[in-house]
Amino acid sequence: MTNLSEIKTFSKPLVANLNKLGIHTIQALLLHLPLRYIDETHMTSVRDLRVGEPSQVEGEIVHTEVTYKPRKALIARLEDASGQLTLRFLHFYPSQISMLKVGNKLRVYGEVRSGFFGYEMVHPTCKAVGEKTTVAETLTPVYPTVAGLTQGNLRKAIATALNLSNIFPPPGRGRARVGVESRVSQNSYPHPNLLPEMGKELDTSKQNPLAETLPMGVYQPFQFPSFSASLKALHNPPPDADLQGLEEKTTPEWQRLAFDELLAQQLSMRKHYARRRSVDAPQFKQSKQLVSALLKSLPFALTQAQQKVAVEIQNDLTQPHPMQRLLQGDVGSGKTIVACMAALQSIESGWQVALMAPTEILAEQHFRKMIGWLTPLNIKIAWLTGSQSKKDRDAAMQIIADGSAQLVIGTHALFQEAVRFKKLGLAIIDEQHRFGVHQRLALRQKGQPEPHQLMMTATPIPRTLSMSYYADLDVSVIDELPPGRTPIATKLVSDVRRDEILQRVREACTQGNQAYWVCPLIEESEALQLVTANDTYALMQNEFPELRVGLVHGRMKPVEKQAVMAAFSAGETQLLVATTVIEVGVDVPNASLMVIEHAERMGLSQLHQLRGRVGRGAAKSACILLYQNKLSETARARLKVIYESSDGFAIAQADLNLRGPGEYLGTRQSGVPMLKIADLNRDVELLNAAKNIADRLIKEHPSAVEKHLERWMGRADELVKV
Ligand code: ADP
Ligand code: MG
Repeated sequence: MTNLSEIKTFSKPLVANLNKLGIHTIQALLLHLPLRYIDETHMTSVRDLRVGEPSQVEGEIVHTEVTYKPRKALIARLEDASGQLTLRFLHFYPSQISMLKVGNKLRVYGEVRSGFFGYEMVHPTCKAVGEKTTVAETLTPVYPTVAGLTQGNLRKAIATALNLSNIFPPPGRGRARVGVESRVSQNSYPHPNLLPEMGKELDTSKQNPLAETLPMGVYQPFQFPSFSASLKALHNPPPDADLQGLEEKTTPEWQRLAFDELLAQQLSMRKHYARRRSVDAPQFKQSKQLVSALLKSLPFALTQAQQKVAVEIQNDLTQPHPMQRLLQGDVGSGKTIVACMAALQSIESGWQVALMAPTEILAEQHFRKMIGWLTPLNIKIAWLTGSQSKKDRDAAMQIIADGSAQLVIGTHALFQEAVRFKKLGLAIIDEQHRFGVHQRLALRQKGQPEPHQLMMTATPIPRTLSMSYYADLDVSVIDELPPGRTPIATKLVSDVRRDEILQRVREACTQGNQAYWVCPLIEESEALQLVTANDTYALMQNEFPELRVGLVHGRMKPVEKQAVMAAFSAGETQLLVATTVIEVGVDVPNASLMVIEHAERMGLSQLHQLRGRVGRGAAKSACILLYQNKLSETARARLKVIYESSDGFAIAQADLNLRGPGEYLGTRQSGVPMLKIADLNRDVELLNAAKNIADRLIKEHPSAVEKHLERWMGRADELVKV
């Protein structure tokens, strides 16, 4: 790894700017790949311009003015032999005014629009043309950059790095295509046990940043270009390159790098998994009393699916290594009781358990449920949240520290510095995607030796995601709902039919059931969200004088929230106006109707979660998605998914396709970087191949694996969920 500051031709400010982009080594600079490309290899004459197409035009400025109506703008007209093109700038600098002086020769690049006076470009890039100005010979890459670092300088820096690489000893196979001569029919390994001969590791210089890291057999089924050829082609694609393929990252060069990236992720994940096997954890015995006592006290029997996952967890807990298991189950599938069984096994073996939930409402609900289930078994439970009085919290922390609290339930407050466990054996994290990596890590560090970890999620994780970002976790799935649930009827209703909907709310509530009214999500402003919630609450009180109406939103004090939820749980209020704070976990079986306003603004998984708040009891339940008229095509497509499907996995897959993986990874909280090149929808084959070959690489070529991880490092380890 060569540090950038060692390259003499790089100025200090350049290095500083590259550092801002997270680039510290030649390797990283070479892997700083274009966002997109522009084609400046030829000129288009004005006559041949087409609306919507990015084009390059060369001509002379024949007119320039600054106008003030309807708003300030700099407008110029560029003329070539075939006609005139308007250039429009809505904000501009003095330097641009002088560049656009009448008589100047310019080359402009931008997307063509049809304007008031014929063709125009808004904010085109402009270049003065002199005698010697040449036309680009390759497509021009456009890179992600920071203020202060121009595309031109970044391009130059990368070109320097590509050249520097040439002075290192040449990579073993140079630019040659790797792999077999004739095209293989199947672009993957036929079977994990039938991998191609991987061949020898190439004897490459460790320093050469363009050298291959892995034996070439790895790439054999794909006929990929070499690493160095790929980088060169992506940084400087020839004029006849497949522009669309480049933009969609489907060219062999992009695919080669996507595969390398996925491999790095898999390799790194396996190493994490292996690390876990080498760490000590408390080894629990099978529960002899508590679990069966709990099961006997329940008014229901476990479903087959619950039994199956309970056994998986129970076995993990008897191992001397920390469990890291993700328990997936659709809303209402009954994850809580399974978690409770795990807790009892830990407690019976003499270890404390922490149960952490993302919201106070949810934590409170768990607390109540656990008190109901576990107090008869003489289990002592502590309660810890941020909103407690200091006195209560100190008391809780005392019994957590002295070990008399066997189960501790709470919110984020649980992993704070001051909280000390006497003997933490198991950490259970509900709705794990709501927590960041660091928060989960902090909780894990509260035990010595490392506690077992059970993570739960009702947001089903699409297969490709669990194969990549979650590959270092073991996964259990509850794929069956408890019997006796009535399916939820989902209806899509236009907002103009609001009156009918109000009537339905009235009917449901007067017949002894309860209803939720979910206010629209207003992402841009929490204040506005609050206003909407308060307005809706007032409207509903006005509309239904005969009903008791509650209101719950994110800005309420936790005690207030709890009081509102308790009143709704107890049936004291019949209609609950809510923001999306009720999205996760809230369990009020008597609620049978949910109305969601502006459903088109919400994510599919979020809608599915919300909908899961009803249909939890015996009454026939309905979820009404109110939408504003004039739905866009995509909004319609999305709502159709939720309307047609009640299968959380199918919905999650659709959501992944529509919105990318951010939803599932909790990146907003954790900052886990995404795969930059590979795409889990597009590159499923590559992912499968990487998964199939990773173990064998680690076993047979450990030093090559190290080299590969080092190349993709800096990021490689961050590609992993902890
Ligand atoms: P989730 O998986 O969404 O967290 P919960 O654990 O809250 O679901 O369970 C939903 C409801 O179903 C709870 O009221 C719970 O007591 C009940 N429940 C759980 N398991 C069963 C079962 N096997 N039979 C009947 N009801 C069950
Ligand atoms: Mg739950």
